[in-house]
Amino acid sequence: MTTPTTSEPRVKLRLHPLVPRLLRVVDVQTLAPAMRRIVLSGDDLAQPFPFEPLAASDHVKVVFPEIESGEIHLPTVADDRLVMPEGRPRPIFRDYTVRSYDAAARRLTLDFVLHDHGVAGRWAQNAALGDPLGVLGPRGSHLYPADFENYLIAGDETALPAMARWIEELPSGARAEVFISIAHQIERIALADRPGINVTYLDRLAHGPAVLMETVQKFVRPEGDLFVWVAGEAAAIKPIRRHVRDVLEIPAEHVDIDGYWKQGIAGLDHHEQDDDD
Ligand SMILES: Cc1cc2nc3c(=O)[nH]c(=O)nc-3n(C[C@H](O)[C@H](O)[C@H](O)COP(=O)(O)OP(=O)(O)OC[C@H]3O[C@@H](n4cnc5c(N)ncnc54)[C@H](O)[C@@H]3O)c2cc1C
Repeated sequence: MTTPTTSEPRVKLRLHPLVPRLLRVVDVQTLAPAMRRIVLSGDDLAQPFPFEPLAASDHVKVVFPEIESGEIHLPTVADDRLVMPEGRPRPIFRDYTVRSYDAAARRLTLDFVLHDHGVAGRWAQNAALGDPLGVLGPRGSHLYPADFENYLIAGDETALPAMARWIEELPSGARAEVFISIAHQIERIALADRPGINVTYLDRLAHGPAVLMETVQKFVRPEGDLFVWVAGEAAAIKPIRRHVRDVLEIPAEHVDIDGYWKQGIAGLDHHEQDDDD
């Protein structure tokens, strides 16, 4: 297998029509003390929902009920752009990974980290069968390359749904190191067991808050080409981004590192982050 040239874009973007959907909770499962699986369904899934293989970072914008009214008012779409509902407060959006989609059963699965600090974390703690939830997108899919010999996949709990997809969707024969930072051992969830894919849970309580960065710093770049995907708390992944660029010297085209949330910031827009540092 040859190493692709650095100028070749290795992650392809496929755009999808923007579709707002009002869905309802049809199943709730506890995956770990601080992780809940929410399965959504509804007639609005009659319009095809995009679900691409090896597009592990695919995400929807979830629209939560208004604080005051408790109602969900979805934006509409005109000329492929979102139009906010007139005379209503701006809808509360948060990004959530498409963990899976069952087209035959029209069931969309999202996995939520539970926490008390924000609308989404609290909504998921209390979600019950029949609860409504708005969903926009996915707007586009990053189609990751399937032809690398090695993959380095790392992140915290918010990236766990995407990492679970990487583990399931990598082609057979690919080698991957997957480093998952969790608050405590009890937050481990069961993941697919596939040859060539090594999964290591990193317990922050036992090893400290910087354990993900320290582990990536000890990672020895393997022979052959390497694709790197990392997501998690924005400040925590900055030194990882620098390490991947400056020490591992992985070309930018072979790297996707994204801040999924930021301490102290509500509703972080991950598109507005500074990729440089
Ligand atoms: C592409 C993408 C995919 C994502 N996929 C998932 C996913 O599948 N599952 C998932 O759980 N999250 C996912 N996230 C992260 C999620 O969107 C954020 O955690 C979001 O901020 C949660 O919204 P909130 O309303 O609970 O908190 P916000 O209102 O955004 O923030 C309020 C406060 O809570 C803090 N906070 C936010 N998230 C957390 C957290 N996880 N733990 C502790 N404190 C937090 C903030 O720092 C802030 O101080 C994804 C993010 C992106 C960009």
